[in-house]
Amino acid sequence: MSQRRGKEKELDFFKEKFKEYYRNASLELPQDISLREIALQPFDADYYVRHLSFDSPTQLISYITVNIPRHLYYSSAKYSFPGNNNMSEKGWIGSDLVFDIDANEIPECKNNVIEFRFCPSCGYIAKSDEKECPYCHLELKKFEHVDKTCIEKAYSYLISLIDIIENDFGFTNYKASFSGNRGFHLIVELPQPFDKIDSETRREIVSYITLSDFDKKYIRNMYVHYKEKEKGQGYLVPRIVDGGLRRRIALSLLKRVSDPDVKSFLMGYTEKIEYVKMLQLVEVLSNQIDDIVNELSIPIDSKVTIDTTHLVRIPNSINGKTGWKAFIIKDIAEFELNAHNVSISNVNELLKIRIVVDLPSIKIIDREFNLKRGDIIVAEYAYASYLIFKGVANLISVR
Ligand SMILES: [Zn+2]
Repeated sequence: MSQRRGKEKELDFFKEKFKEYYRNASLELPQDISLREIALQPFDADYYVRHLSFDSPTQLISYITVNIPRHLYYSSAKYSFPGNNNMSEKGWIGSDLVFDIDANEIPECKNNVIEFRFCPSCGYIAKSDEKECPYCHLELKKFEHVDKTCIEKAYSYLISLIDIIENDFGFTNYKASFSGNRGFHLIVELPQPFDKIDSETRREIVSYITLSDFDKKYIRNMYVHYKEKEKGQGYLVPRIVDGGLRRRIALSLLKRVSDPDVKSFLMGYTEKIEYVKMLQLVEVLSNQIDDIVNELSIPIDSKVTIDTTHLVRIPNSINGKTGWKAFIIKDIAEFELNAHNVSISNVNELLKIRIVVDLPSIKIIDREFNLKRGDIIVAEYAYASYLIFKGVANLISVR
């Protein structure tokens, strides 16, 4: 079979898979879907189709089972005329508050990201920032991979973010989803009149969540400097019953102490604490202030949150970078990344694939892979689609 013919077969296979999935998919759409702009990247094109609008989820489903999307989005903004091509004539009504947390951007994980450019035809791996294969003169593709542990780390930041949204801002109408690749999305449907807040106000929210350098320095100085002065004097230890940043510091502090009396004091259950225990608490706060400050700073993508016209990936749609389901997290305490959750296919279906480039040892979800160019493996959908959509494998057959 020629390479071109093989690629076509692969496209047809996945297009049919996506179509089958969308026919029965329960996409998580806002109630006011008719006010949203819908956008998509067609399955076999590299441009985007924007300014679509539908009156109901059923209409949208009918459309996407004919025009199969590789990526599918709706606007965080609500418009009077969402289908108007001209942004200024859409009649902006208001916008959800949206957040992206990407495992790639987590400080602890920045060094764990595997990233390189390669030629899908001959398997050449770029040695510098070259864009083209010196042998085939084809454009090099980029391969990016993060480990499950980093995705789980991103998830723990998502939990902290939700805590802030609920407890500091008091917004309870939100949806969290796995992005289907390496991160998470949080869509907060703001009630009126808050949905009308502009980018400047959203920027303030970002700064509260990420902490500006000024804030970080301020907190550090506050709790480190007093270490040299008389211990425990001069400032009140932050507690969970306090509001805002003090509550966030107390939450972080709570994880670092084990004494039940100290915990109870931090939680605000008791007002008094023995002097010796207070000293221990102050010691923990001072000694671990750098870690605490780092933990408080949540690595959200600020551009996404500031933008009032952002397009958000539809929860439970398919992410065309992996072929995985960008699944909604129904119970926020129960996220699990496993092959079943991301798969859009029958678990018994096995895909036979050929690897096109030498890969470093990588872990996809729960499985370790050591793959070299030319290797042929048989794997379940979740692993095979990941390698195919990341461009490092071709489909041979399905059984
Ligand atoms: Zn090449």
